[in-house]
Amino acid sequence: MEPLISVILTSYNKPLFVGKAIESMLAQTETNWELLIMDDNSNSETVKVIKKYIEDPRIYYFNSNIEHKDRYKTTRYATIINDALKMVKGKFISYLTDDTTFLPERLELMSQYFYQHPECNILYSSQLVKQVNIEFREIRRFIRQAKQPLKHAAFTVDHCSVMHRSDILHEIYSVYGNYWDDNPDHWNHGDAAFWKRLNEKNIFFPINKVLDITYKTPHSFQTLFNSLPSNIIEGTIVKGSSEDIYYIQNYSRKKITEEIFALFKFSRSHIVHLPDPILYKIPESEPLGLEILPNFIVVHAHDMNSYFYLESGQKRLIVDWSTMKQLKFNFENVVKLDGKLLSSLDDGPLLTTMNQKNFIPPGRKLFRIPSKLWICFDGIMSEIDPRVAKRFHLEKDSVSISSAFLQKYKKGDRITPLGSYTSFNII
Ligand code: UDP
Ligand code: MG
Repeated sequence: MEPLISVILTSYNKPLFVGKAIESMLAQTETNWELLIMDDNSNSETVKVIKKYIEDPRIYYFNSNIEHKDRYKTTRYATIINDALKMVKGKFISYLTDDTTFLPERLELMSQYFYQHPECNILYSSQLVKQVNIEFREIRRFIRQAKQPLKHAAFTVDHCSVMHRSDILHEIYSVYGNYWDDNPDHWNHGDAAFWKRLNEKNIFFPINKVLDITYKTPHSFQTLFNSLPSNIIEGTIVKGSSEDIYYIQNYSRKKITEEIFALFKFSRSHIVHLPDPILYKIPESEPLGLEILPNFIVVHAHDMNSYFYLESGQKRLIVDWSTMKQLKFNFENVVKLDGKLLSSLDDGPLLTTMNQKNFIPPGRKLFRIPSKLWICFDGIMSEIDPRVAKRFHLEKDSVSISSAFLQKYKKGDRITPLGSYTSFNII
């Protein structure tokens, strides 16, 4: 017997949650369904959870085997949904993400509605959105109400709240040559792009009842995307959904082992979590180590009895203690290095106190005039939006300056949060 409803579950690295999504299918009062689990090459922890459920003959498991280097090239969930749509057998289609659960009567109520309303091709229901913290404790909740028929469902309806007839797919395919548009421009609104296609011939009918609950975690793409500028700031320690940690240097990401992390006295609280499509778009280069030193740290060699600030691959001699203090360099973070290694580095401009005529500010330092924040790279000052400064943990140890001081320096482009994923670059 063909299944009545095909549900497509997209999964990527949510080991703590994906099991709940699958169990919400097993708890459905309507049991005539198939579940296509489209896993986007998740970590073994996630796959282990999924494998517990695949004995059920209604559940199918597919792994995209996508390589990380290719992850940013399309809107991944749209790509794997398209793969699934070529295989579905149900009369009705629904979508589920790995951080969403369906309420038990969802499939029954929605399929019944289709039988009672032959004129309806697409249905959507109300959705409960729960924002949770890292420990899954709820921070806030709200309901997206399904109140009226929609001619423009884009940006209003989440894809986990929709069910549509499978008949309408042929038409989309004949016009577009695929179903969902997986152009990476649509990464954070892939469903909206599909709704636009569906809305050309159809309206979305409402069921004003909460039939799914979606969780926004600190690691949801939307959350991670917040306050990121168009350029990842040099010298940032970054992490995606895997355990690997990288250092951003010269347009690339350099892996940091635990040993090197400790050696350079990096702090876990400084790690910036990035969405994987953004992280993997940054090319990977040789790991950070003693051959390839990080910038923007203060180093010291016993035998040289001096302190240096590393910048642009050079060492800048910090002329005295008061400079250290004025620029708020933390003595506890000074890294001890071998004298020979330090001598092998070229000398950069001296780092003096700020009142010296030719003072060149240290790179990546945050400067503050009463209402604005500035950051300096290669002697060029750029205003930085406070949200970005916060996201990159730059506010700590910021240094106060006057507007007269600021006037002495060339100005770069303002660093502001970005709206669109595609114009993402690194500096
Ligand atoms: N996803 C995917 N591949 C990826 C990243 C995400 O298939 O590389 C899927 C993920 O499993 C989820 C959907 O895309 O089903 C939306 O991702 P997420 O929940 O992180 O985003 P948000 O809730 O912030 O929109
Ligand atoms: Mg999500």
